Amino acid sequence: MNVIGKVTVLPQLPPSIARLSELAYNLYWSWTPHAQALYSELDPQVWENFGQNPVRTLLEVPQARLDTVATDKDYLARYKSVMADFDAYMNLKKTWASQNAPEMQPVAYFSMEYGFHESLPIYSGGLGVLAGDHCKSASDLGLPFTAVGMLFHQGYFRQLFDKDGWQNEAYDELDLTTLPITPARTPDGQEARVSVRIGHREIAVRVWNLTVGRIRVLLLDTNVPENSEEDRKLTARLYGGNQELRVQQYVLLGVAGIRALRALDVPASVYHMNEGHAALLGLERIRECVDAGLDFRTALESVASSTLFTTHTPVAAGNDAFTYELMDRYLEQWPELLSVSRHELYELARHDQNWDGQTVPAFSMTVFALRMSRAANGVSELHGEVSRDMWKFLYPGAEAEEVPIGHVTNGAHNLTFTSQAMRDLLSTVLPKDWTERLEDEEMWKAVDGLSDAQLSNVQLETKREMIAFIRARMREQMLRNGASAADVAATDTLMDANTLTIGFARRFATYKRATLLFRDRERLARIVNHPDRPVQFVFAGKAHPADNPGKAFIQEIYRMSQEPEFRGKIVILENYDMNVARHLVQGVDIWLNNPRRPLEASGTSGMKASFNGSPNFSVLDGWWREGYDGTNGWPIGEEREYADLNVQDDADAFSLYQTLEDEIVPRYYGGATGEDSWAYSVRRSIETVSPRFSMQRQVIDYVQRYYLPLGKRGQAVAANHNAEARTIAGWKTWVRQQWPYVSISAHAELPATCHPGQTAPISAQVNPAGISLEELRVEAVLNRAGHLTRFPLASRGDGTFSAEVPLEESGLYSVGVRMIPEIDGLSNELETGLIKWATAR
Ligand SMILES: *Cc1c(COP(=O)(O)O)cnc(C)c1O
Repeated sequence: MNVIGKVTVLPQLPPSIARLSELAYNLYWSWTPHAQALYSELDPQVWENFGQNPVRTLLEVPQARLDTVATDKDYLARYKSVMADFDAYMNLKKTWASQNAPEMQPVAYFSMEYGFHESLPIYSGGLGVLAGDHCKSASDLGLPFTAVGMLFHQGYFRQLFDKDGWQNEAYDELDLTTLPITPARTPDGQEARVSVRIGHREIAVRVWNLTVGRIRVLLLDTNVPENSEEDRKLTARLYGGNQELRVQQYVLLGVAGIRALRALDVPASVYHMNEGHAALLGLERIRECVDAGLDFRTALESVASSTLFTTHTPVAAGNDAFTYELMDRYLEQWPELLSVSRHELYELARHDQNWDGQTVPAFSMTVFALRMSRAANGVSELHGEVSRDMWKFLYPGAEAEEVPIGHVTNGAHNLTFTSQAMRDLLSTVLPKDWTERLEDEEMWKAVDGLSDAQLSNVQLETKREMIAFIRARMREQMLRNGASAADVAATDTLMDANTLTIGFARRFATYKRATLLFRDRERLARIVNHPDRPVQFVFAGKAHPADNPGKAFIQEIYRMSQEPEFRGKIVILENYDMNVARHLVQGVDIWLNNPRRPLEASGTSGMKASFNGSPNFSVLDGWWREGYDGTNGWPIGEEREYADLNVQDDADAFSLYQTLEDEIVPRYYGGATGEDSWAYSVRRSIETVSPRFSMQRQVIDYVQRYYLPLGKRGQAVAANHNAEARTIAGWKTWVRQQWPYVSISAHAELPATCHPGQTAPISAQVNPAGISLEELRVEAVLNRAGHLTRFPLASRGDGTFSAEVPLEESGLYSVGVRMIPEIDGLSNELETGLIKWATAR
């Protein structure tokens, strides 16, 4: 058809079910299967065909059907019960925040992607789902919290495999009237529009409201008639296009995002940048301060003091760095707007890159984000460590362990990913309010009260559902690719519900090593085809459109799945999204993850599987290094890294096969009781992982470690017309200017050997070059087996510093002395980045 126009005819909801529309526009339904059922029952086919989307379902269902359910007693009873739960949730007075953090300042959270539900495809993978889950738990906990993101009107992409298993990408233009969003309105009732200058173009940005329980998400959209065709596409695709587009999207997210908050009068005191994509929000916040009369450096202090930055990956592709020339095209007017030189501004983001054999200064989003914040974290304990090492070059003279990057280990939103069947079962042993205290480890011990049979019944039920889902999807794919009738018919017998089933699904980034399982094909064939104890596998995952090696992995697995020895027993599903993810984490018996350590910063899908009683089987990287306790799943390989990647892959593959053959398969089929039983592993995985890796625990950690302190700090720094920001900025300028002229020499009276508890006299002579001696911390640093202890030397007031430094334990020490400038109010000692090590005297 040649479309000349479009119109949406809204349904007339009968009064008895009138609130179906209100509920459709609150993503509360996305973690409430009973609420989803109200829509799917209206028309299961429409529900499935249109991506399980309540707004769309209401639009598509015939009026007659609505009129019928409106008088259906059964339906109305369920409707009332869901609405009662919804109202209770929305109106809960005693939230976690009201009881535990009443003084908390409002948080604005910025992320490039959000995964809330498959019907809103503005996410690509783990980062987005994490951000979506973060918002859901912020709502559950009752935090003062607003999120900012982008409305990609073609989403990420729909993945299609061709008949050779090669990934093709399809982009569908979303019809916004079918999404659970509404135009955001300014306090005076106008539809919110903000504008931002990118290069020489003034770009209009529309702002949408997305309601997630008690909180809201503002989504930015440039697809408005005021903009040129090109500019309308700025918010077309997530991670699409080239670097030019990326930078412009970052300007939008950061700058237009702040403007949207202001236009809507949204309170925000603490700013959380989820990944470096959001770092340019610092520019706009500094501009606001500069406009209000502050100088650039004072403004920077003020802005950074209330900002948190979370870094999510050590992988280079996840840490954008752009040439200065590229940045000039889109940031050209910013130095002037901020009253700062281009040099000084870019220096804050500088990360020299080796491009084509040449060292070039580049604008790193991660470095800029670190400079725009006064708190930073990685997403697991090991990732914190890896990040400190990775970014220590920003703190010359510091040891990696001192680099001010902490960690909060990721979690997942339990209710979003736990099957209704498992929730119902859990409700039989957990307290009534269990969904409000998911982080409570004691509470979860009640899972011990679930019998082996109860658990296996639920798991068999969800496994059957998953297999039915897989068969239907494979059938669709076969038909589309023109497969033979025999091949299409074969999809009816794919996989078997009584076979141990292992799932592997995630983005197909190469470091995740999706094909590791196939390293020894014969051994794998023996495992899969064991006559009494067979094993089957289901794979899924998208490769980034530009990632040909990732696509080759997909194709390799696809081809393997067609080999005679693996047919029907190894399948790879297309279009991994949150819908596929839910089916898999709920339906498989084991969740597999074998990234190349230490590149998986956290990983979260294994947590989702554990919530459903599917133990995790993974490399000891990211969250699993913390989560594995010897009873709740299995490790792959050892806790170490390898210099030779091939050796690492061999060792990990070997370990994978061996654990599968010797431990997992015998346990699953063995029929043992007690601690050797399968059910024991299932219970342990549910009760240990659910609380510790709940998103609720994660967000509480963010509140306590970062949101509360940054709220206080931000206020203190900004008080009295930014008095403290001025002091700190002025002091840093002065100290940085003098630093080249300071010097320090030291002497340590060290015996060749001594006994624990003895002391060594250490002294230093300092030339402070005009810096006040009170503002210099002079300290001895003892390095014993890589572990640092620091001991302050006391000032004698004449430039000499000394102390009797205790040598507490036996061992080999290296001793150094250094000097660091400090004043009250710094977020940490390395904030100036200035460290001077003493020469020996
Ligand atoms: C949880 C999730 C991810 C993250 O998976 P990892 O194994 O942690 O990389 C990616 N995509 C979807 C759709 C998810 O639900």
